[in-house]
Amino acid sequence: MSRNSIQSLWTATAIPGTDLPRVSSPLRAQVTIIGAGYTGLSAALHLSEAGRDVVVLEAADVGERASGLNGGQVIPGLKDDPDTLEERFGPDVGGRLVSTVAAGPDLVFDLIRKYEIPCDPVRTGWIQPAASEGALVAIRARVEQWRRRGAAVELLTREETARLTGSRRYCGGWIDRRGGTVQPLSYVRGLALAARRHGSRIFSQSPATKLTHSGGEWRVDTPCGSVTSPIVILATDAYADRIVEAVRRTVVTVPSFQVATAPLSDDLLRSILPERQSASDTWHLLRYFRLDVTGRLLMGSRGVFGNAPIAAQARHHYRAVREIYPQLEGIPYEYHWGGLVAVTRDHLPRLQEVAPRLLAGFGYNGRGVAMATMMGLLLARWSSGQPAAELGFPVTRVEPLPLHGFSQFGARVAVQYLRSLDGLARVRQKLSHSRGLA
Ligand SMILES: Cc1cc2nc3c(=O)[nH]c(=O)nc-3n(C[C@H](O)[C@H](O)[C@H](O)COP(=O)(O)OP(=O)(O)OC[C@H]3O[C@@H](n4cnc5c(N)ncnc54)[C@H](O)[C@@H]3O)c2cc1C
Repeated sequence: MSRNSIQSLWTATAIPGTDLPRVSSPLRAQVTIIGAGYTGLSAALHLSEAGRDVVVLEAADVGERASGLNGGQVIPGLKDDPDTLEERFGPDVGGRLVSTVAAGPDLVFDLIRKYEIPCDPVRTGWIQPAASEGALVAIRARVEQWRRRGAAVELLTREETARLTGSRRYCGGWIDRRGGTVQPLSYVRGLALAARRHGSRIFSQSPATKLTHSGGEWRVDTPCGSVTSPIVILATDAYADRIVEAVRRTVVTVPSFQVATAPLSDDLLRSILPERQSASDTWHLLRYFRLDVTGRLLMGSRGVFGNAPIAAQARHHYRAVREIYPQLEGIPYEYHWGGLVAVTRDHLPRLQEVAPRLLAGFGYNGRGVAMATMMGLLLARWSSGQPAAELGFPVTRVEPLPLHGFSQFGARVAVQYLRSLDGLARVRQKLSHSRGLA
């Protein structure tokens, strides 16, 4: 494999996808779902299990976007800590929101077990290593808040973090035993297979190009045929196109990029992530890393905007590997790939009724493996008549970002700014370390 090739490790190692038809004639369904990633397919699976007649329309192929490109880290929780969510939404709504979010990893691993999805599931936990002493303050509070709620979480000392990650770079951290890893593309393909077995009709290369509402029915046009149904679920996340402008304009999209090394030697694997946890650290532009089933190290972080050459995209990642794992100096890199993350203003995912019986779930801020699967379940329940107030997740008003184009530009500036902040912090740490040694 060339060092310069853009190819996803997941595409090279996933279970085969299924050849799916395109829409070629007028169809009817009880629910039409637009988008075949975790959100859309989890919704389809849960609806079909309940006996509903579902059509899924996918512009590309199943899992070709974020759900087949991500780091495969099953992360419990949102960016905000549980107390913050309860303060924001009140103890009742906030408390149920925290429980819903916390149940995400169970849902993922239960579906994998129930449908025997061969996606290399590992559930030994997710670690957040602290890049600085300052980050440990927030981590201690986070652990205390989750502990109060009975979650299987532990604070890690500097030594414990070094033992579990195989890196001496971190000051400490915490482990959330509810988390884990999957082969993300195999997982999404497995969801599609399960949904089809329950009767979902899934069409690939069938982009929804127009939505019209009349006489209590939605009509979704694709280039070669349309689908009519009383309910439509929009599950397009960062890849939302102009079909529903308000949804596209609610998020900014930020590139995330990953590299994967050649398989590590048995000797290295004895010390690097020996228990196979996944990790996302606390830098402003966080680095996320894990091993795959063959012992390759994957390193991910924010990517470069636009069509930059791989060398530019990968530079930060090679540096991150060298910094976190100096013992991997000189290791060859075999896979490079990236995708788009949908970021919301307040880092909370959105569950919305965009128009009458046009429901949408999106905006996972880089934590979508568990949350998008859970969102699919919530969308399935909501579209089957469960009242919004009983879903355990707040339904919010549609509020597109004013001056969306500027926000998108602002995201680029913010990424550069945060990169500089992290760079400065690293220089300061090096200086104080060398003073300490002097
Ligand atoms: C590089 C990267 C790394 C990440 N790492 C992690 C991680 O380790 N852990 C984690 O929890 N999360 C991670 N995420 C986030 C996670 O992947 C996403 O939140 C999640 O996959 C979103 O799922 P989804 O189904 O909502 O969207 P997607 O998987 O993006 O699916 C949306 C689908 O809608 C389709 N679509 C769009 N418009 C139309 C249309 N008009 N008609 C028909 N179809 C349409 C698209 O083709 C696409 O297939 C990462 C994301 C990226 C990009």
